[in-house]
Amino acid sequence: MCALQGGAEAAAFASGSAAASAVFRSLEPGAHVLAPTEMYHGLKRLLQDGLAPSGLELSFVAMDDLEAVRHALRPGATRLVWLETPSNPCLTITDIAHVSELAHAAGASVAVDATWTPPGVADPFAHGADLVMHATTKYLAGHSDVLGGVVIARDAGTRSWGRLRFLQANEGAVPSPFDCWLTRRGLATLPHRMRAHALGALAVARFLDAHAKVTRVYYPGLEHHPGHAVAARQMASFGGMLSFTVEGGRHAAAEVAARVRLFTRATSLGGVESLIEHRAAVEGAQSATPDDLLRLSVGLEHPDDLVDDLRRALA
Ligand SMILES: *Cc1c(COP(=O)(O)O)cnc(C)c1O
Repeated sequence: MCALQGGAEAAAFASGSAAASAVFRSLEPGAHVLAPTEMYHGLKRLLQDGLAPSGLELSFVAMDDLEAVRHALRPGATRLVWLETPSNPCLTITDIAHVSELAHAAGASVAVDATWTPPGVADPFAHGADLVMHATTKYLAGHSDVLGGVVIARDAGTRSWGRLRFLQANEGAVPSPFDCWLTRRGLATLPHRMRAHALGALAVARFLDAHAKVTRVYYPGLEHHPGHAVAARQMASFGGMLSFTVEGGRHAAAEVAARVRLFTRATSLGGVESLIEHRAAVEGAQSATPDDLLRLSVGLEHPDDLVDDLRRALA
């Protein structure tokens, strides 16, 4: 992972959640963490319900609003700024270089959950990140048959990296040899899969964007996406994830998800098969995700077949 991502050292974990948890828990008790309002909901829950009660100070901020980030940073107290770009599930783009500049000026490190942008798609270290985390469960392994996570450090000499290594070695949330073997097998095709995921996602996004029953498409590869320019600067491609909303609210969205045949209705992402999910239902009662939103993980099927499937389901 160091060879692919750059950085000094990488630490492997049994899941993406375990990798992220180790980053948060490597901080001193009472440390202030700044995290995005919109982020992978499992990690947001971990922060709010699991780690805040045991002493982590948390603030959530819209990371695409640099003025808001500047105000939310507490110089000397904020130890970590956590980023996810594009974010889940509305694909909000964060300017990693600008946020890193602000964070470093306040004495905070920057960690990027780069699960949606594996090596070759984005290079958070080049834009100032100190740590890069991936759920290898997703694109890196790529076949929906393994759980794993990894954290890569730009500098392995920090105290927090030493604590993360301690947690990794002593808590037991490490990947099995077979899971590592499966992940390495997946890595062999990573650049080819990512090219195909992005081509398919763009074709699907353009189709949905022109469809009368689709009210909004969230994909940074579309020119009208508010984060398009920043995404074009910090991503080599726009990735394989997108979301869209449909006319008719929650019921209509559920109907579309029920009527597709090629897309599988399931959570997770980054595998060779296309997935669709009604994200608000997965996230539960406190979810801020629009009720009429469907999230797609565009797989490696022919884009024409995926478009046909969605056309039929929307009709
Ligand atoms: C899936 C995912 C995770 C968590 O990974 P697991 O291996 O499922 O624990 C974290 N961040 C993002 C963006 C994800 O998509």
